[in-house]
Amino acid sequence: MFAVVTIRSLNVAQKRAVIFVQQDEFDYIIVGAGSAGCVLADRLSRSGKYKVLLLESGGSDARFWIKVPIGYAINYANPALNWGFHTVADKGLAGRSVYWPRGKVIGGSSSINAMTYVRGLAHDFEDWAQAGALGFEWDEVLKVYERLETHAEMTTNGNRQIRGRGRVWVSDLSDQMSPFSQTFLDAAAEMKLPVIKDLNAPNSDGIGFYRSTVKNGYRWSSADAFLRPAKRRGNLMIVKHAHADRLHFDGERVTGLQYARKGHVVTVTAQREVIVSAGAINSPKLLQLSGFGPAKLLAQYGIKVMRDLPQVGRGLQDHLAIGYQFRANRATLNAVLGSPLGRLRMGAKYLLTRKGPLSVPVNQVGGFVRSNNARTVPDIQLYFNPASYEVSGSGKTQLDRQSGYLISAQPCRPTSRGYVEIVSPSPNDAPRIVPNSLSTEADKETAVRGARILQQFAKTQSLKAVTIDAKPPDLNALDDAALLRDFQSRASTVYHPTCTCRIGWSAQKSVLDARLRVHGVAGLRVVDASAFPNITSGNTNAPTMMLAMKAADYILEDADKVLKEWTT
Ligand SMILES: Cc1cc2nc3c(=O)[nH]c(=O)nc-3n(C[C@H](O)[C@H](O)[C@H](O)COP(=O)(O)OP(=O)(O)OC[C@H]3O[C@@H](n4cnc5c(N)ncnc54)[C@H](O)[C@@H]3O)c2cc1C
Repeated sequence: MFAVVTIRSLNVAQKRAVIFVQQDEFDYIIVGAGSAGCVLADRLSRSGKYKVLLLESGGSDARFWIKVPIGYAINYANPALNWGFHTVADKGLAGRSVYWPRGKVIGGSSSINAMTYVRGLAHDFEDWAQAGALGFEWDEVLKVYERLETHAEMTTNGNRQIRGRGRVWVSDLSDQMSPFSQTFLDAAAEMKLPVIKDLNAPNSDGIGFYRSTVKNGYRWSSADAFLRPAKRRGNLMIVKHAHADRLHFDGERVTGLQYARKGHVVTVTAQREVIVSAGAINSPKLLQLSGFGPAKLLAQYGIKVMRDLPQVGRGLQDHLAIGYQFRANRATLNAVLGSPLGRLRMGAKYLLTRKGPLSVPVNQVGGFVRSNNARTVPDIQLYFNPASYEVSGSGKTQLDRQSGYLISAQPCRPTSRGYVEIVSPSPNDAPRIVPNSLSTEADKETAVRGARILQQFAKTQSLKAVTIDAKPPDLNALDDAALLRDFQSRASTVYHPTCTCRIGWSAQKSVLDARLRVHGVAGLRVVDASAFPNITSGNTNAPTMMLAMKAADYILEDADKVLKEWTT
């Protein structure tokens, strides 16, 4: 069946290219093949009963530097794989506009992230349930993680023990890490912090080796885990370089959408549901462009209001971290990867064995600690990396030639909230990102307490013994006021934007109900990191896949009900 489509907001060249476009019908349309979208595509197509369309703006993830774990530093700034957003000048960060990479490729941000696997802490999810996400209490979440994960753990005799049957490969890579990383654990023990084996075990605050989404020396993205096994199914259609521009709504329910591909606009229909999984920046953007958002904002750009949803785009939360670097008198990764010859040797080792420094992500040691005795739960996440480097304004990473290391602190649960909003009715314009960082006193205080913990680490005998001197600024020379100023002038995103279409009790205070349906809009869910009611304490990839797994249960449970609504 063919139809003519005209789109007001396309530029002239695109308008000319819009001719006859094919229309097609699916049960489910998923927008975005990222961490969440890949989980959904697999789960919804698995029974063979439903026809599923998965749209992805970016292209293939079959690239060497995506698969090699250390390639993270290269992809970080690659515009071919990355939306490369920038925030507005952020008042709380000394007026800086900060670079926010997001994956634009099959696998989404899970194809360009740093692969650290952290479930989040129990109270994060209890807070979700309190905020309205009933069904996401920690006990429930734990069951979903158990379905999701396979653990590859090192045993004391150096063998690998496999536990679990899930698709997400969570690897203990401590045998491949830099020997220098043990120094961080020694420093933690000296500070009487618990040194623990598995940071993902329940109630485990302390320091240990991070686990990573790596399998047999390769990155193990959400696409590797979920899409690869599903992609040959006849009932799953994956369209790359397909950018969803606008949802279609018939006044009762969302009926499908239009997407742009190679200058053409294609209209597709969803018999059951459209699921937006475009990530915490692009999901609210797509909803707003489609008339689901704050009425005042939509009116400003002449967008017809389909449903006034004041919270679409609001509530943004992200993690910030501050890092301090030191020159070391022992070999760190700089010694092995800082020279062309070292890179050549380690490259050869990787190609022959899939082992060595190239097979391990950069975050090696870290964990969760309490910044003072008054804290009932850990409030700071720490990262320790056996490498020192410079990152340019455009995101290019350059390892120092001399050995060095980095210690870094990230407040777990910031209370500041920002927003994302469209700047025009055009799907081609990046939205405005306003993080409102450090806009609460509590966040400023936690930032200082986090840096204070780093000072304690820097003063341990274990670290002093391996340190030549501090790369500026000298952490130990800073008092509280200077630590705050330093945080404001240097802290950066940890790339965890969340909460911009959050779950909650009502349409006035949130966007989604507990089953991830958009309040008051039939046929539409948002399933990705934007649905978090609050940011979790740690890295956000694992909770995003967990949320998508649970959402898939809900979508499948509701499958017959939504079809009935559609046909009556
Ligand atoms: C550089 C970096 C490092 C990170 N490191 C870690 C880490 O070590 N550990 C961790 O746990 N988390 C990490 N994260 C965060 C984590 O990867 C994300 O929280 C998670 O991937 C978010 O998943 P998502 O499904 O919400 O969005 P994404 O995975 O970003 O997926 C969204 C997808 O939708 C596509 N899309 C967007 N708009 C459209 C449209 N209109 N039409 C069609 N497709 C569209 C995008 O191209 C993308 O593929 C990192 C992120 C980045 C960017």
